[in-house]
Parts: sequence; structure tokens; C-alpha cells
Amino acid sequence: MKIERIDVTRHRLHLDPPFRASWDTRPRTVFEAAVMRVITDDGLVGIGSGDLMLGFEQHEHLFLGRDPLDLDRHWRVLDNLAFHYSRYWPLDLALWDLAGKILGQPVWRLVGGRSDRTALYASSGTLRDPSAMADAAYAFLDAGFPAMKIRFHRGDWREDIAALEAVRDAVGDRLVLMVDCNQGWRMPWDVEPPWTLKDAVAVGRELEELDVFWMEEPLHRADYAGMAALRDMLDVRIAGGEMNRETFEFRTLIERRCLDVLQPDAALTGGIGGLKRVAEAAVDAGLTFTPHTWSNGLGFVANAHLAVGAGNPPFLEFPYDPPEWTPERRDFMLTEPIQVPEGGELILSDEPGLGVALDEDRLAATRIG
Ligand SMILES: [Mg+2]
Repeated sequence: MKIERIDVTRHRLHLDPPFRASWDTRPRTVFEAAVMRVITDDGLVGIGSGDLMLGFEQHEHLFLGRDPLDLDRHWRVLDNLAFHYSRYWPLDLALWDLAGKILGQPVWRLVGGRSDRTALYASSGTLRDPSAMADAAYAFLDAGFPAMKIRFHRGDWREDIAALEAVRDAVGDRLVLMVDCNQGWRMPWDVEPPWTLKDAVAVGRELEELDVFWMEEPLHRADYAGMAALRDMLDVRIAGGEMNRETFEFRTLIERRCLDVLQPDAALTGGIGGLKRVAEAAVDAGLTFTPHTWSNGLGFVANAHLAVGAGNPPFLEFPYDPPEWTPERRDFMLTEPIQVPEGGELILSDEPGLGVALDEDRLAATRIG
């Protein structure tokens, strides 16, 4: 069997009302996605998404005519391309989907089969005032989620603590709470400096008072010494690494004991092939591997297979903050948007590959390239 064709199409969904992501200083009025299809000479199709794949056309000859099951060879070429050009990891996701279809196995089993299920946490994305945050927390509890993540990005972290306190007062211990400080990276136009170690210690002590499960991205992604010091100084778990570019960075983050929870996103860093190794190294070191999943529905599904199959984490991120961020927006490229499952527990099927299908009508209606 050979790779006969690789198609990349680009799509744009208009967002009305806009999505005011806490980590972006500009309201988002559009949501763009590139969808990748790898097609074999006997007509099987693997699908992936994540990076916008700009400029990929000039490199596709490196894969055409090759056996799709040479996954490690393809991963090494993609790693070289990520060094010289861009993050073309959606191709790795599509190759794993394709491998599952060729072998008749779900991806969660191909990456290790440690589990087929995990609890989801509602990952909110907007900054609401304290009473609206409490209302959102009640809604997540009613929907069946066991856990929720809250954003800190109001300018003065004391205002963020007030929102967290309102949530804790409202739901008591019925929701596990995580906090995302979003200090690890910035949008291109945002030059605000990240917190210092001393800022992070002050915030972290408040989080401990409120029984927060993990403190995410409290420092810049390259501040390894700061993360390791913070982890020693605080009892709250330290999470991070969602968009560190290089797979080898995670080896260093593990060896230097910088993080309790590693969060690389397969759609943006390392693909399933690279992060399978990171997940195994994290688990072997007694750490938690549970990826960032904020690309889109196809990226979420790929990360879910990787996370449960190779990492068996206590919780997986489910980007969800209605009305601004819904399964219908996030998963617009899929025939069946992934709704909040009963009891907040995601159970992956035994369908070959990633087990999801593209909504071709919707993709045609949103196509821009
Ligand atoms: Mg995050």
C-alpha cells in the first residue's frame, strides 16, 4: 500500500457572538481550520487537523509513494520540517488515523491501550465576573463534569482570585478546580511580560488555600529553573508545556523535575508519534501526561486517543464555554460534534483509527482555500 495523494483544505467559520479568549487581547470573530487527508492507492483516507499547514504543498513529495505504515520514518521527516519550516503535525495525526484503518484498530490501542476512557474537565476560555463564573460552574456541575478549569488573565491577579473564590463558594468540593495562568506564551501582538517567580509563588499560595488541583503555565515556557523552584516551594501541582515546540524539551522538563503535569498538544507539537514517547517517559517518571486540546474537534479527538491510550490521565481537557465556545463551533468539521458525555466521562470506541468522520457539506460551505 502506498500514499497516493495528500490534500489540505482550509476553512473559516464566522463567530457571532465573537469568542473573547482570555489569552488573546483581540476578540475572535472567525475560527479557521486546515483539514488534512492522506489517501492511499487503495482508497483509504486518514484525517488530521491542527496547524494551518501553510506552505506544506512544497514538501508533500517527501511522503508520496511511501508506505503509510512507516510511521517513525514519517515522524522524523516531519520533525525535520518543523525545524526548518512549520508545525506540520496534523499529517502525523492523519497517518495514525490511517494506520488504525489499515490495521483495523483504534488509535488508543495502537499507542499502548492503557485505557479507552477518561474523565473530562470543562476547560473554560472566557473571563467572566465572579457571579457569572459561579453560574458557569453550576452549569458544568449540572452537565456532569467532575472538574473545571478557570482562566487567570484579568490584569490584577487578585481579581482572578475573587472569581476563583466565587466558584469555590458556589460549588464547594463538588468540582475539582484547575487554574490556567497562561504565562507560557503570548499572541504575536501581545508584549506583556510573564509573571516572575515571586508573582507565581504569591498566586500559588492563594490557590493552595482554595484547594486547586493544578496551577497551569505560571511562568514563561523556557523558565525551567523557575518552574523547578516553584514546584519545590508549593504543594499545588504545576502544569505546563502546552506549546513548547520541540519534543526533546519534554525530556528536559521531566529530567529537571519542572512540572507535575505535562501538557503538549499532539496537533501542535510532536504529533501522536512524538508525544507517545513523551507520555511514556512522563508516566515512568511518576508524572501526569494530559494534553492541551484547544485546536479543534479533530485535534481534540487525536489528543484523546493519545492521552488515554498512552498516558491514562485522571482528567482530559474538554474545551467548552457556552455560549462563546460550543461543540458545534469547536467541531464544525465533524459529522457529529462531541457533546458532553454522561457523567463527564469520555469513552472512545473500537472503531478503527480516530473513529470520527468529516462533514463534507459543512467543509464545502466554509472553504476558503
Ligand atoms: Mg493552557
